[in-house]
Amino acid sequence: MNVLKFGGTSVGSPENMNVVMNLIADGHKKIVVLSAMSGTTNSLVEIAGYLQKRNKDIALMHINKLEGKYRDVVTSLCKTPESKAKGMAVIEESFGTLRALTSGEFSEREEKIVVAQGELISTGLFTILLLENGHDAKLLPALDFMVIDKDQAADLIAISEKLKSALTATGNATYYITQGFICRNHEGNIDNLQRGGSDYSASLIGAAIRAGEIQIWTDIDGIRNNDPRYVKETRKVERLSFREAAELAYFGAKILHPQTVMPAKVYNIPVRLKNTMNPADSGTLITSETTGAGIKAVAAKDGITAIKIRSYRMLMAYGFMKSLFEIFERFKTPIDMISTSEVAVSLTIDNTRKLNEIVKELKEYGEVEVDSDMSIVCIVGDIQGEERGFAAKVFTALEGIPIRMISYGGSRYNISVLVPTAQKQTTLQALSDHLLNG
Ligand code: ADP
Ligand code: ASP
Ligand code: MG
Repeated sequence: MNVLKFGGTSVGSPENMNVVMNLIADGHKKIVVLSAMSGTTNSLVEIAGYLQKRNKDIALMHINKLEGKYRDVVTSLCKTPESKAKGMAVIEESFGTLRALTSGEFSEREEKIVVAQGELISTGLFTILLLENGHDAKLLPALDFMVIDKDQAADLIAISEKLKSALTATGNATYYITQGFICRNHEGNIDNLQRGGSDYSASLIGAAIRAGEIQIWTDIDGIRNNDPRYVKETRKVERLSFREAAELAYFGAKILHPQTVMPAKVYNIPVRLKNTMNPADSGTLITSETTGAGIKAVAAKDGITAIKIRSYRMLMAYGFMKSLFEIFERFKTPIDMISTSEVAVSLTIDNTRKLNEIVKELKEYGEVEVDSDMSIVCIVGDIQGEERGFAAKVFTALEGIPIRMISYGGSRYNISVLVPTAQKQTTLQALSDHLLNG
């Protein structure tokens, strides 16, 4: 059985939902994972923001506006009166939940319930569309099997077991329709796999059922060799290894959620990226096979903070690094890049929730300098296999760009540079001009 995930744009209008129906309805059994319709999760995040600030009236105004949009969707999506009634019931349930959350306490727990509604609605409506068109489809509730543990990490063993039971409970069907992104946490409350998490849902489900293939259907012909939002001339990458794709996703290629590759890699399940609006294109195929030497693509990750610690001693003492790392561990803050000199260490983080506490403790060991608004630009490919002089080529390409940090040698698949976000576009363009397209 294959797992097919369709993103926000792919299900973003009644017309597109029909396109998706025609794509999946080939008679082969499959699990279809859907995102919320495009724009919905952003609207829900905004609504949650107003509710957090106790701005009930503005929240209600946005809830009404969004509900109006969905009523229009149902009106054009559903043809028969029965389907229309079922569609309206799906909407009323979610918008009833949202309205109920405008009074009373509003904590992180309620916020998670708010942002979950997009996927609950899109899957509800899409299932109705399939049934109306005579397809053998069933809704498979993700909240019955997608779980994260107390460290917020997906628990693949529990997911596999629960998914088996959920499939049995749902009963036989050709097309199982389920929600991406949403899950339950270790307390059993509604939670999510972070923004863009539907890709990760698909990969986890694929790994859990040992799928033949995991397909990520989106709005572009697969992975480009540079970020098409910032660079004009990009080329499609036909094939990537799991390792290369993982580096790209982790370091910012928006097309794939950072953790998507890992579950697929563990069970060696090919991941194919395809364009819903151009299914004839072969897309990008990610497998365990190495794809030859050379640079494949670059990507950038924003919102990075660089921290430099200059040791109070002339030379870094034995155990200095351990003490620093323990501080980050204690505050559950992952480090992305690191570089050291004899007396100083620079490292980067993207989660700044505990930054003040971390800096306070770091100051016990040395002088601390913090730079925010930085971006990691990551160059991915089989770099060691590349001919000699690769580093020289990168430096020539980046001439004139103020590089704050460089990381090279940690993995043969990645070289990363840290630049101010204001320089990101210039950096990406320079890499396209001199390395990728040169
Ligand atoms: P979906 O809603 O289907 O999950 P996303 O918006 O999350 O889609 O991801 C697809 C988008 O990712 C593309 O439209 C493109 O703008 C952006 N993107 C960023 N980097 C890349 C890249 N290297 N290759 C392809 N698309 C990329
Ligand atoms: N709807 C969620 C988001 O917008 C998840 C996803 O689209 O993958 O982040
Ligand atoms: Mg996405």
